[in-house]
Amino acid sequence: MKINIIGGGPAGLYFAILMKKANGAHQITIYERNGPDDTFGWGVVFSGKTLANLRAADEVSHAEITREFEAWDNVDVVHRDGKVSIHGNSFSGIARLQLLKILQRRAEELGVDVEFHSEIHDVEALRQDCDLLLAADGVNSTVRLRYAERLQPELDVRANRYIWYGTGQLFHGLTLTFRENNAGVFAAHSYKFNRTTSTFIVECDPLTWENAGFETMNADQTLDYLGEVFTQDLNGHKLLSNNSKWINFLLVKNRNWFYENVVLIGDALHTAHFSIGSGTKLAMEDAIALADSFQQTSNVSEALAHFAETRRPVIEDYQSAAFESMRWFENAASYMHLSPMELAYLLMTRSGRVTYHDLKRRSPEFINQYQSATDLHG
Ligand SMILES: Cc1cc2nc3c(=O)[nH]c(=O)nc-3n(C[C@H](O)[C@H](O)[C@H](O)COP(=O)(O)OP(=O)(O)OC[C@H]3O[C@@H](n4cnc5c(N)ncnc54)[C@H](O)[C@@H]3O)c2cc1C
Repeated sequence: MKINIIGGGPAGLYFAILMKKANGAHQITIYERNGPDDTFGWGVVFSGKTLANLRAADEVSHAEITREFEAWDNVDVVHRDGKVSIHGNSFSGIARLQLLKILQRRAEELGVDVEFHSEIHDVEALRQDCDLLLAADGVNSTVRLRYAERLQPELDVRANRYIWYGTGQLFHGLTLTFRENNAGVFAAHSYKFNRTTSTFIVECDPLTWENAGFETMNADQTLDYLGEVFTQDLNGHKLLSNNSKWINFLLVKNRNWFYENVVLIGDALHTAHFSIGSGTKLAMEDAIALADSFQQTSNVSEALAHFAETRRPVIEDYQSAAFESMRWFENAASYMHLSPMELAYLLMTRSGRVTYHDLKRRSPEFINQYQSATDLHG
């Protein structure tokens, strides 16, 4: 089979690896607009369950990925002067660039042709030149736009803004920090992803953003302002920029997942708010599901229909949990009167997927503390 792939992110690279592993005769080319060492962002996280899926799909890359990991099992909620730790949440972090380098090496070793610095404009020409065109071209997918009439995307630009920084301050665990000033409420999502660096994403609502005056601030002023907001959390470390800019979260869904021999995967197909840390996981698990569909049948139409049918319920479930989580952060200001313990409990149960009993099993200490604190108040 001749397979053209647009996008050398986690979704495109991993699908290429799995297809080439299944059949070395497949002719696979990835077109990637960036160079092999360019990256946007800092670290990404995986849950324990994702890792089991990656191991089953490709042991070689799994071994390399896990060798680079920073692992933790706690979520820390920081609010006013309190820090509450909730255990039993197994996660690992890795630099996005590190992950991409591992996947690039593995793909090239298996004989996948990766064309860097190749931006695709004429999608239709590429589609006509292959049996399968994989659109793994990320959240602002050109392919999705080109076939919008067929794929019928639903795009929802959310009001909150976020900016993705790094920092040398190490956050041991997923740390959710809330700070208020006269502009409003700022939430930081942070976690270490190697021995020296943490991801530090700052999110705020549109009113806070406007009050703070970010519209007229340059990149350095923004960095200094946010460094000041989180000064007690950064412990003397600076925020680090990687061409970091304010973004509105884009919620992506598509009514149709494929058209003729074109199929969307990863962020091009769907997004899930970063507060549930699942974008890369979902992208790589899409690749696994699609490669599995080609194990069922080599007929392209049948395989794409099988992929959409089997994968859609899983994605819908994730997107609905992520939606609740995103809404929670959009309304964060209305929870700031709560004590750190109450806030932590509300945060842990925000998606409706984690119950009191789940928390009691996973983190009995947290539930004991929560009960004593709320009994005292009530
Ligand atoms: C603030 C933030 C925090 C996040 N945190 C996490 C996290 O903690 N954990 C997690 O798992 N995920 C996280 N994500 C999500 C994660 O970054 C994405 O979900 C994931 O990278 C999706 O993989 P992908 O391969 O579908 O797309 P991408 O990684 O976006 O890859 C798409 C690739 O296509 C290329 N491309 C696009 N158009 C063209 C074209 N026309 N021609 C050639 N090449 C093209 C791009 O250069 C890019 O390399 C976060 C995202 C954001 C925005």
